[in-house]
Amino acid sequence: MDTVGPAAPPGRQSGPSKDSNVTEFDYVIVGGGSAGCVLAARLSADGRQRVLLLEAGGSDASPWIRMPIGYGRTFTDPAVNWMYETEPDPALGNRSALCPRGKVLGGSGSINAMVWVRGQPGDFDDWAAAGNPGWGYRDVLPYFRKVEDHVLGASEYHGAGGPMHIRGIEQEAHPLCERFLATTDGLGIPRTDDFNGARSEGAGLWHLTIQGGIRVSTATAYLAPARRRANLTVLTHAQVTRILFAGREATGVEYLRGGTRHVATARREVVLAAGAINSPQLLQLSGVGDPAVLGGLGIPLVHAAPRVGAGLQDHLAVSYYYRSRVPTLNDELYPLLGKLRAGVRYVLTRKGPLSLSVNQAGAFVRSRPGLERPNLHIYFNPLSYTAAKGPRRKLTSPDPWSAFLLSFNTCRPTSRGSVAIRSADPFTAPAIRTNFLSTAEDLADVQDGARFLRRLAAARPLADVVEREYQPGADVLSDDAVLEDFRNRAGSVYHVSCTCSMGPDPSAAVVDARLRVHGLGRLRVADASVFPAVTSGNTNAPTIMVAEKAADLILSD
Ligand SMILES: Cc1cc2nc3c(=O)[nH]c(=O)nc-3n(C[C@H](O)[C@H](O)[C@H](O)COP(=O)(O)OP(=O)(O)OC[C@H]3O[C@@H](n4cnc5c(N)ncnc54)[C@H](O)[C@@H]3O)c2cc1C
Repeated sequence: MDTVGPAAPPGRQSGPSKDSNVTEFDYVIVGGGSAGCVLAARLSADGRQRVLLLEAGGSDASPWIRMPIGYGRTFTDPAVNWMYETEPDPALGNRSALCPRGKVLGGSGSINAMVWVRGQPGDFDDWAAAGNPGWGYRDVLPYFRKVEDHVLGASEYHGAGGPMHIRGIEQEAHPLCERFLATTDGLGIPRTDDFNGARSEGAGLWHLTIQGGIRVSTATAYLAPARRRANLTVLTHAQVTRILFAGREATGVEYLRGGTRHVATARREVVLAAGAINSPQLLQLSGVGDPAVLGGLGIPLVHAAPRVGAGLQDHLAVSYYYRSRVPTLNDELYPLLGKLRAGVRYVLTRKGPLSLSVNQAGAFVRSRPGLERPNLHIYFNPLSYTAAKGPRRKLTSPDPWSAFLLSFNTCRPTSRGSVAIRSADPFTAPAIRTNFLSTAEDLADVQDGARFLRRLAAARPLADVVEREYQPGADVLSDDAVLEDFRNRAGSVYHVSCTCSMGPDPSAAVVDARLRVHGLGRLRVADASVFPAVTSGNTNAPTIMVAEKAADLILSD
């Protein structure tokens, strides 16, 4: 185990406690996830700065992390996952939901579905237009290119030779994906071989962060090669419990490792990369947040910052399930013999369904006329897992019948929730309020999305293999019934972000466009929490871009 019991609540003084072992660095990075591993590699690259990376979880060496489809297991494995639960959401029939977050080197990028989608160019232009110079699409494109070792090779849109290998799946996608794409062709949706190129709109196969049948994360791509540097220290099982301040300047952090409290001081800066749940939690625990909340918990105020933890965004999706007249991945992965065959194939060749994500094809579409940009993210997965009970998605134990799923979420939800500590104890999970479907726009997209999925399933050639829709089913037809079904079954696709958002106004944002916490010195946040608004697609690529740009900002300051 990494930690023993709760830390003492912060006292009046913000300095180190008595039992601390103190070490000094130039930069202290909190969290070795998607962003933190990039920061550790980039900030230590010149060999001169002493960099400390503190990660609450452990090594990412597990075969369930390395084997792509293993995320079906790590999804609910507390050994590598914080396993947060959201507060009951009235919009979802008061359901609470599992909110998985990686607690391991590589963070959520070690347990995610590996889909590589940057988002739409307009997402970043919106960030810039909200008062964040340097974050428009043309500004961030060089950072996306710098990250990539892309199968499509170097171009205006892609990088080659960068740390993260991005593969295509044309040779290995399930044959039903082609049927899905022929159907979208027939509906006039342009086919794309690159959601991250000149156009993000259209239908195609996803690109994935997998190389040679093994997951690629920032822990494998950035951190592993940097770890031999003498100026980089990586400590796992080290949970940061608070940021230390001298007046309004961050001076270091306190962390627990092996049951002992330690202090690491930062001559230059503390950089938070603990993710969209833990970065705001840590700021609040350290006295940076809403004075009303902190005062109620007896936490001395260091700096009033009411937006810390506010503004949470996420993508909320629902799946429609179809019995298929032709075999799907269920037929390969449900039978014991099929599992064995897939396992042997993976071990011998690193190919086959275990070497891929189950997210194989999809689309970004406009659901109604008059929209400037796609508003729906569509997923086609050639398998189903409705029979499994509980939150565990049995990717390697799908339904015992031939079936596939179509799914959608709105690209740019307008509802916003929050993260707030409920105790001064850093080992108590914060309250995560999703506040889904709280705007008219988000409700309208529910109807559009459901109609769109059904239009797809009714169009040929997909319709030729659909035996019937078995969830939600043919009796769920009216707008009211569709919405009620959505409330009963929709779930997050785990893109939480925006809880320490970037913006020019300290009363409306937490960090400025250089990712410095407003009102405090020598403290930045650089992870998915700084997004001003969630991007239109998956969030790993834009988080890694944020970290690349953050490293440049930090070094140039
Ligand atoms: C199940 C799942 C599937 C997903 N699928 C996809 C996908 O297919 N494609 C995609 O683009 N995105 C996907 N995502 C989202 C994407 O992975 C995340 O948006 C991204 O990894 C966030 O990066 P981050 O650096 O902000 O946080 P994280 O990667 O979560 O990193 C935060 C790190 O900080 C550590 N930490 C937290 N608190 C402390 C502390 N107090 N002290 C020390 N360390 C601490 C954590 O343990 C963790 O390692 C998925 C996420 C999940 C959970």
